[in-house]
Amino acid sequence: MIRFESLLEKVRSYSPDADLELLRRAYVFSAMEHKGQVRHSGEPYLIHPLEVADLLADMKLDVVAVSAGLLHDVVEDTLTTPERIQELFGADVAHVVEGVTKIGAIPFSSKEERQAENFRKMLLAMVDDIRVILVKLADRLHNMRTLGHLPEERRIKIAQETLDIYAPIASRLGMSKVKNELEELSFRYLEPKAYEGLRAKVEERRKSAEVIIEELTRTLRAKLDGAEIPVHQLDGRIKRLFSIHRKLQKQKIDLDRVYDFIAVRVVTGSVKDCYAALGIIHQTWAPVPGRIKDFIAMPRPNGYQSLHTSVISEHGFPFEVQIRTDEMHQRAEEGIAAHWKYKEGRVGDHSDERYFQWMRQLLEVQQEVRDPQEFLRNLKVDLYPEEVYIFTPKGEVRSLPRGSTPVDFAYSIHTDVGNQCVGARVNGRMVPLRTRLQNGDIIEIITQAGHRPSRDWLAFLTTSRARNKVKHVLQTEERSRSIDLGRRLFEKEARRFDLNPRTMLESEGLLKFATEYGAKTADELLANIGYGKLSARTVVQKSVPAGQLKERLGEPTLPQRRAPRGSSDKITVRGTDDILVFRAKCCNPIRGESIVGYITRGKGVSVHSASCPNVLNLMFDPERRIDVEWDGAVDDHAPYTVKLTMQVEDRKGMLAEISARVSDINTNITNMEARTGDDQQARIDMTVEIRDVKHLDRVVKSIKGIQGVLGVERATRT
Ligand code: MN
Repeated sequence: MIRFESLLEKVRSYSPDADLELLRRAYVFSAMEHKGQVRHSGEPYLIHPLEVADLLADMKLDVVAVSAGLLHDVVEDTLTTPERIQELFGADVAHVVEGVTKIGAIPFSSKEERQAENFRKMLLAMVDDIRVILVKLADRLHNMRTLGHLPEERRIKIAQETLDIYAPIASRLGMSKVKNELEELSFRYLEPKAYEGLRAKVEERRKSAEVIIEELTRTLRAKLDGAEIPVHQLDGRIKRLFSIHRKLQKQKIDLDRVYDFIAVRVVTGSVKDCYAALGIIHQTWAPVPGRIKDFIAMPRPNGYQSLHTSVISEHGFPFEVQIRTDEMHQRAEEGIAAHWKYKEGRVGDHSDERYFQWMRQLLEVQQEVRDPQEFLRNLKVDLYPEEVYIFTPKGEVRSLPRGSTPVDFAYSIHTDVGNQCVGARVNGRMVPLRTRLQNGDIIEIITQAGHRPSRDWLAFLTTSRARNKVKHVLQTEERSRSIDLGRRLFEKEARRFDLNPRTMLESEGLLKFATEYGAKTADELLANIGYGKLSARTVVQKSVPAGQLKERLGEPTLPQRRAPRGSSDKITVRGTDDILVFRAKCCNPIRGESIVGYITRGKGVSVHSASCPNVLNLMFDPERRIDVEWDGAVDDHAPYTVKLTMQVEDRKGMLAEISARVSDINTNITNMEARTGDDQQARIDMTVEIRDVKHLDRVVKSIKGIQGVLGVERATRT
């Protein structure tokens, strides 16, 4: 067990100016908070954070990271709040501790490879400070080292998660030392039998292998010395069990037939020396074709650089050789953790450019920073600025463009799910459909059969897929509505001239006119009428030879058809039946009032009160004006909601008197609000339910009769 004093000494050795007092306080606090807690091994809990901090010090991280290592479990395992950590240790330490706690809480369940990749991205996306990941990796490494004390079920779960998530993340950060150990330990706990069997077999061969390694390295050193290539490090080793295991599985053979479980590594001074060493090696032993890899010229995405080759030894079996410079070596071992050690005085080094995008992004942020320790401080980056990672209710991870809403998510599942989306739950709570999703959100979509998408969605949808689907539905609906409206207007006009609409639609004259107009089909012509681009009268007049048109006198008699049930419009277009109409929202005309209709572009006929201020503006296009009337046959319609605005003298009891008078004439008041002005006057807004225009007149008259009422107006929206 390491003692705190030796940790302190370690940090001081690579960072003499570090705030060791912070570290000491973090240690004392952690010891206090975890007091009395024990690990599964029976040891005091404090050992764990201490070991984690020590691993971080091995990576030569700054005091913030090492302190966070000491404190990383206090929020999760004790009553300490993040606020308290911030108070005592500052925002940076608190931020890292909180980050570690947060990613520790993500539920990982799926074993699917594709899912694991998304999960890793989600985890990385939730992190805006690299130290969070480094602390988490150190935490996981120590937990894996002590995994044997846990019950089997938890052992397997943690080992699987380590293999699927944390080892690949370490690999991605180029930290092969950490990655290798995580993989070895995962293998040991996930497949104890295979692990033990392989270990025993390798042990059997260890003695002879060591003799061979000794011989090979001696030969190689002599050759390199002879060529005057500086050798900084030369060693041979037996490969890791997990890597042998994977190889055996891939090639479906037994260890008895695998000899290349030996690897030799040469570390030299320069890139030139690396290639020279490769030449010497190939002169000494025959290379295996297809096994030479130049990761110096073409580094791996995580920045790894080396020359790899396999050669046949004089004993007749192949072995692998890796050749690299000191810097490449340290990078290969420690990855991002090695980076800032080389950072000093080498800003803009061309090899930085080879780091993969993730790394480059980190570097861009830190380009100006001179002090290598500064590289860690303030390190806040958005790793996946374009994406957001969320969970489905089944625990699957999906990636969506940043800014996506539940509706975008719904369309990403299926068009029908999107179209029928009526609500969404995020993390168990109902949210507005326009809510922007966050990393880690769990989303559930509520659908309703037959529901149609709304035009309002276009204002917040982020994905083009969702937008296109919604637009498509809206356009299809609009078009069929316009064809329908156009057909009815056309029929009405045809009847006025005593013509049969059906035969007319197929007549040569009409089709000729359609072609001239640029419409390909009769439906398209009708759609143009329904869109208000063309009047029905023009179509009829242009389709019949001049002189053959004879207008009937009076309105045509219509076959008795009932207004569609359940329709709340109760307005018909004069001379037709069941044309789609709707009451304009600006003036909300009520029964009995004089009204005018107007063909909108694609939404049917809107009906305004004749006194509506918008009507005058709309009527610049007389072709689109249309006569409408209240349907006399229906009288059990739902009441109209009318808002009245009154100016009154500001006196006591005014509100009560108005509401009493209005109620007296059998009128329902649904809302009433008064606002006092500064000139002894008040404004009252009242919403009432009105049956028809006569009813409204009575209400207005009775209010006007009250003493102190200065004016009553029907509110319009403009
Ligand atoms: Mn821990």
